[in-house]
Amino acid sequence: MMYAAFIWETRFLSDTLLNIDDIEVFYGGAQALHGVSLSVSASETLALIGANGAGKSTLLRSICGLSRVRSGDIFFRGRSILNERPNRVTSLGIAMVPEGRRLFSSLSVEENLILGGHVGRPGPWTLDRVYDLFPVLSERRRQPSPSLSGGQQQMVAIGRALMSNPEVLLLDELSLGLAPSVINEIYALLPRIVGEGGCAIIVEQDVTRAMTVSDRFVCLLEGRESLSGASDSLSREDITRAYFGT
Ligand code: ATP
Repeated sequence: MMYAAFIWETRFLSDTLLNIDDIEVFYGGAQALHGVSLSVSASETLALIGANGAGKSTLLRSICGLSRVRSGDIFFRGRSILNERPNRVTSLGIAMVPEGRRLFSSLSVEENLILGGHVGRPGPWTLDRVYDLFPVLSERRRQPSPSLSGGQQQMVAIGRALMSNPEVLLLDELSLGLAPSVINEIYALLPRIVGEGGCAIIVEQDVTRAMTVSDRFVCLLEGRESLSGASDSLSREDITRAYFGT
């Protein structure tokens, strides 16, 4: 029995890529996260849902070292990355596509992509592979990034993150401001984007879509977990209650 428990634990530990343990984050005197914990395993997509201001972006930013964690810990492959420098986090294998894309507007599409590769790890993603994923970017490689449509700019932001060859991909509000057809196009590519053996945390306002593309979800309400589970296990009513705190 003890041997079986050991085997299970070893397997659990080796499959878990990211483990967030009871973190608290403050902006000045205001607490944004109140002891949030979650973990993500290899080949898993986790949806992080919740109303505006629930703390979703703060959680992603904490993983990347962009928001300072006051207490708790964050482990990547069993090793603490708590409050590491953002470049260091990326070089270890965690990349974020931030809300609002945040491309370098004075740079071309290709220069933005190349920049993403500078801080990353060696791996399968190259410029050619990104252009294979998003052929329209290849046609526009010399254009300044602001001249692209919103959907194309989102593709650049995704490509820039992929160029660092992440194992953990954090996707913050991919669909913000995009036409439904473009959102469908990008989400259809999600399995290729996350890649075999990698994992993703997606923040998505469209809860139905978030549930469709993920294996598990965590719902935040005012900086605390209000519900979590397998994405196909709960009713719409349960999720609505957790989302709005009703
Ligand atoms: P949204 O969907 O609106 O992006 P969210 O779930 O991502 O919301 P956060 O952006 O993480 O939520 O915000 C969590 C809380 O922290 C909110 O109360 C927000 O007002 C506050 N907050 C976020 N960023 C800052 C900041 N830079 N300074 C002060 N408070 C902030």
